[in-house]
Amino acid sequence: MAVQYSDFTDIDINDFDAVVVGSGFAGAVTAREMAERADMRVLIIEKRAQIGGNMYDEYDEAGILVHRYGPHIFHTNDGRAFNYLRQFSGWIGYQHNVLADWYGTYMPVPFNKNSMEIAFGKERAEHLIEKLIDTFGDERKVTINELREQDDPDLREIADFVYKNVFLYYTQKQWGLTPEEVDPSVTARVPVFISRDNRYFQDQYQGMPVKGYTALFEEMLSHDNIEVCLNTDATSVFDLEFADTSEDAQLSAIKIKGQAFEGPIVYTGPLDELFLARFGRLPYRSLDFVYETYDEEYKLPCGTVNFTVTEDYTRITEFKHMTAQKAPSTTIMKEYSRAYTDPETQIPYYAIINDENNAHYERYRRLTESLPNFHPLGRLAEYRYYNMDKIVGLALDLAREIVDAHNAGAAGASEK
Ligand code: FAD
Ligand code: UDP
Repeated sequence: MAVQYSDFTDIDINDFDAVVVGSGFAGAVTAREMAERADMRVLIIEKRAQIGGNMYDEYDEAGILVHRYGPHIFHTNDGRAFNYLRQFSGWIGYQHNVLADWYGTYMPVPFNKNSMEIAFGKERAEHLIEKLIDTFGDERKVTINELREQDDPDLREIADFVYKNVFLYYTQKQWGLTPEEVDPSVTARVPVFISRDNRYFQDQYQGMPVKGYTALFEEMLSHDNIEVCLNTDATSVFDLEFADTSEDAQLSAIKIKGQAFEGPIVYTGPLDELFLARFGRLPYRSLDFVYETYDEEYKLPCGTVNFTVTEDYTRITEFKHMTAQKAPSTTIMKEYSRAYTDPETQIPYYAIINDENNAHYERYRRLTESLPNFHPLGRLAEYRYYNMDKIVGLALDLAREIVDAHNAGAAGASEK
């Protein structure tokens, strides 16, 4: 079967047991699980013109499969999440390699033993690598912050080099902040790796869906119990009711088409948007993507090149390396990071994690605590820097809770 699409105006809300806002992995996995494991009828409301959230991919005019919301490489140590996704698609193994363009010379990122030889020359690198191994052990990962805390002059030399040539300019472009100003968990995603392993990730399972992500989402959402309304913004079809009229008044009901909806509502959009930014907007970074097609088989030596010391864009991705597509031409994509200032025209891609913003987010989340059938889930609704595998895992956990409660309720009803 195919995905069942409907116009929101034709929907009778009484036909549904659950409502899901958003069709990225958070929304799609919970929808599928509720539909399949509890026979619940699920309505998905998606504001974009297509399903798949940030994972959406499509063929461009040159016939190259491209990702429209940033390059997405699936990698995980969570066998449950990967096995779950395997039901909906075949997978090709893909090991992502990233090179930093260092004034025209390529060097592996994460910065590793091979990068050290390029940066310092073979002889000096040999000495520095020994120092790293003596201090941290071989085949270990060390964050730039840990490295910068070292007093040893050799280790300081490595730390200064990596800080200035890998992290400083890239982080300023990406976040509008220095590495000291971003949350330590952000730069810790790309540690220095005391190894010859040039791969960006070392996870057990790494790959790409064989026909692309959109095809995987189509398979996941093709279910008799699931209906999808595209081009429908939850903020314009939800009517929120509050306990009182104060600014911090908690949510007491969500009305859809004039009725309080009592089944589970899984919400995967930004929480500040839902509450019409009553406490001010949550800060995010947005991105602009610029595509270029060339009549050459390949333009880059690997999937992604990071521009760590030059250029206005952060990185270039060449999709054919990731998707294994064979074609005489190629499409690359440059990423420009921007401040998120206009929800009408921009997409909030990255939450800017820090104590102040987390507290700001918490204020919004507290408004929802009083409504037990409302479940904020995902990278936007939880204001977190989650990878895809984490979201799949969290969606499976939430779906299990909802399904168990629904099935227990159904069993109770049939006993009466
Ligand atoms: P999303 O995919 O953002 O889905 C949310 C959906 O909700 C969207 O379709 C949106 O349109 C919809 N929505 C929002 N508000 C409303 C509303 N009011 N009404 C109706 N619909 C609404 N992860 C990896 O594991 N590997 C990677 O290589 C990787 N690369 C990334 C690259 C970039 C540039 C970015 C930004 C992220 C990357 N990620 C990667 C992270 C990945 O995108 C997220 O983990 C994933 O998208 C989270 O899924 P989600 O369902 O929570 O959110
Ligand atoms: N980073 C950097 N230089 C690099 C790669 C990463 O400074 O060459 C920093 C930067 O702050 C970035 C963060 O590390 O935002 C996390 O990088 P990652 O590749 O995980 O970012 P994502 O793919 O999520 O955008």
